[in-house]
Amino acid sequence: MKKLFIGGEWVAGAGNAVLPVICPSTGEVYDEVTRGTPQDIDCAVDAAAQALRGQWGRTTALQRGRWLTELSQEILKHRAELSQIEARDTGKPLTTAHNDVTILARYFEFYGAAADKVSGEVIPFESDYLVTLLREPLGITAHIIPWNYPAQMIGRSIAPALAMGNATVLKPAEDTCLSALYVADLAREIGLPDGAFNVVTGLGEEAGAALAQNSNIDFISFTGSNEVGTKIQAACARRPVKCVLELGGKSPQIVFADANIERAIPIILRAIVQNAGQTCTAGSRLLVQRSIYEGFVERIAQDFKKLQTGSYDMDLDCGPLMNGTQQLRVTNYIQEAKDSDIPVLAEGSIHPDAPKSGFYVAPIMFGPVEITAAIAREEVFGPVLSVIPFEDEQDAIRIANSTDYGLVAGIWTENGARQHRVARGIRAGQVFINSYGAGGGVELPFGGTKRSGHGREKGLLALEEVSSYKTLVNYYGE
Ligand code: NAP
Ligand code: MG
Repeated sequence: MKKLFIGGEWVAGAGNAVLPVICPSTGEVYDEVTRGTPQDIDCAVDAAAQALRGQWGRTTALQRGRWLTELSQEILKHRAELSQIEARDTGKPLTTAHNDVTILARYFEFYGAAADKVSGEVIPFESDYLVTLLREPLGITAHIIPWNYPAQMIGRSIAPALAMGNATVLKPAEDTCLSALYVADLAREIGLPDGAFNVVTGLGEEAGAALAQNSNIDFISFTGSNEVGTKIQAACARRPVKCVLELGGKSPQIVFADANIERAIPIILRAIVQNAGQTCTAGSRLLVQRSIYEGFVERIAQDFKKLQTGSYDMDLDCGPLMNGTQQLRVTNYIQEAKDSDIPVLAEGSIHPDAPKSGFYVAPIMFGPVEITAAIAREEVFGPVLSVIPFEDEQDAIRIANSTDYGLVAGIWTENGARQHRVARGIRAGQVFINSYGAGGGVELPFGGTKRSGHGREKGLLALEEVSSYKTLVNYYGE
């Protein structure tokens, strides 16, 4: 049974309840975590407040950077074990989990190195005045993360907040708590000051809601569904508290007739099957110029049919979905598409050795899909690719922008001017040209437009979100 990490110590929760840790590859329960209560959230927030008043609040930027760097190294030292834990907990193939843990370490390395590079400004003002703009931490930052990339999300959310000197409280998703608890233990081992990083496991509506509503927090970073993101923002509005929301996506991959098809295909496939499609940046819509539509679809279908799904330790293209609810949700989308007579272009397979009790869904590709169809508009969060033909540049931009989301887009063309025109026409937080990066890219500012959320994480911009600015006006005349 795993405890909560509060004030630098492992503590039992205030309630007696636990949550099962389920292996999505087999459906089996293999451990338990604490079902944290609102009272536990209060304790964690108090511990964070105490940290700011104590050693953590007095620490220099240089020292904060050194702690984060040390934590990064410690994560890498334990990479094999943590990857195994993460893969079993999430169902993702071991190779993917290994990559996620490497990125987790990279976040602490990047923000560790940045911690003492953040400086303010001197602002020209009237004579005999020295005006400085100081950058300070916001205070207590709350972090609510989803189950799809727990290891990456810990780094993405926590590392910049700590680099700026905030004290953090993390509520991981109830399905995937183990990597957060593991990182907490490493933080304890390297001697990160007590209360700088707290982890409370528990249910979203219980511990998560209590954290979002806590009157002493100064900021919330939330990644997850639009439904819960809206509740978080409403809770923030009541005090008010600043929030960064990273929500869903329905990202287009746009393939023009002159594209380098052989380069594009493996990247397009990975963008939809990575993490079994449970990726906010999944390239779930494939827009193909009509003049090459038939040939391109035939070519990509050849590779799509070879995609295999299996348990995390079989390390195939796809693992299972997170839980039975997600499996049912994705299966329903697939059934609805089939019932609406949307043609199936290709299907991958579930490996015969995959345990029958796991939450598997084979990858599937539909096309041509009307832009009004649910699978072309809504975030399915599964390995379901919708292929949509388009006529020309304007048509491609129109279709790309036709959903409520605006997270990422990929453009495939050798024509430089077109690359730029289309990139400028698309509403998205990130646009990739002849490449695509779902996850990773710690240096690259990331976030949504439209209903995909607001605020930026990753890169140096993330530090802005977790900083406060203080204008200091000093009259030095006689
Ligand atoms: P979710 O409910 O939005 O979960 C995200 C996080 O919010 C989890 O830690 C969750 O805790 C917590 N949470 C839930 N209700 C809360 C509340 N009322 N107050 C505060 N925190 C709360 O996502 P989900 O239900 O797991 O997944 C549903 C759908 O969301 C997916 O099918 C997918 O479309 C989308 N999704 C998107 C992303 C993304 O990266 N954009 C990630 C995950 C899911 P619990 O886990 O304990 O509920
Ligand atoms: Mg689990």
